[in-house]
Amino acid sequence: MAYQIKTIGVLTSGGDAPGMNAAIRAVTRAALSNNMQVKGIYRGYKGLIDGEVASFTSENVSGIIQRGGTILKTARCDEFRTPEGRKKAYETVVKEGIDALITIGGDGTFTGARLFSQEFDMPVIGLPGTIDNDLWGTDATIGYDTSLNTIMSCVDKIRDTATSHERIFLVEVMGRDAGFLTLNAAIASGSEAAVIPERATVLEQLEVAIGHGIRKSKNSSIVLVQEHAVEGGVAAVERIIKENNPHYEVRSTILGHLQRGGAPTAQDRILASRMGYAAIQALLEEQRSVMIGIQKNEICYVPLSKAIHEKKDVKQDSWQALQILAI
Ligand code: ATP
Repeated sequence: MAYQIKTIGVLTSGGDAPGMNAAIRAVTRAALSNNMQVKGIYRGYKGLIDGEVASFTSENVSGIIQRGGTILKTARCDEFRTPEGRKKAYETVVKEGIDALITIGGDGTFTGARLFSQEFDMPVIGLPGTIDNDLWGTDATIGYDTSLNTIMSCVDKIRDTATSHERIFLVEVMGRDAGFLTLNAAIASGSEAAVIPERATVLEQLEVAIGHGIRKSKNSSIVLVQEHAVEGGVAAVERIIKENNPHYEVRSTILGHLQRGGAPTAQDRILASRMGYAAIQALLEEQRSVMIGIQKNEICYVPLSKAIHEKKDVKQDSWQALQILAI
């Protein structure tokens, strides 16, 4: 090895995602078992700048694998976007004797991590922790499966009301710029349609959705709407439907933050545990600026630059399946 890593720092950053705790646990225990010391950094990059750091033993991460959120807390930190902010963060790194950083978060977190790695010549490993599943190079991100299941069970409940009334139900789903949660929750819940940023215009998607309902002589339709598929979100979609079909009764639900919460599914706990373990293996193999991904159930190393800049598209067969199965 070029130089031995004695101490790693671990932080969570950006939006919280179920399974982050399982990842912190895995990183901590895998590092300890390789005789590395572990420093838990609180509140993401903000804590790195402010020196909110604690030494972690195995006990610090016991009893957390089943808990949603993140014991390290998370934050958005504009100061870290500046060279001055990152310099302050590096001062903490030096003071705490941290040789490598493990950052758990989304593309913003990785953008900051990559800059930090370049500016201070420091190994940084990213774990994809986001419910949006929008990172290139990995089939799944930590938190995605839990969120998908939460959305599915909410829509199942909405369907009980939907089938009792002649209405169109719109359900707004999170995802930032990506439609993975919306499309796959729509398939899993048997929804009539999904409105996502990656595919046809909103009006076209709605026409298909409503058409399906009518053809099937359904008295109700459920349409999942990705939060940024149209400016104004679900309220704007409701307006569009009413303008074009004034006789339709429309009800809207915004699922909001409940999509982030709850105990992680088995799949997310396993994914987070494998990725956390792999992060330490990657450091031992002298990887410096990579995201741990999973492809075809195999762990892989993805350059942070690719994870950030390449665009992951929704699967065309999934999109087609939704259209066909809603008929
Ligand atoms: P999620 O997908 O859940 O929103 P994220 O990691 O993409 O997670 P962001 O809020 O985009 O969330 O980024 C988290 C933090 O990463 C920011 O608050 C900031 O501290 C840092 N960061 C983001 N973009 C940059 C950048 N261009 N340069 C330096 N740091 C950045």
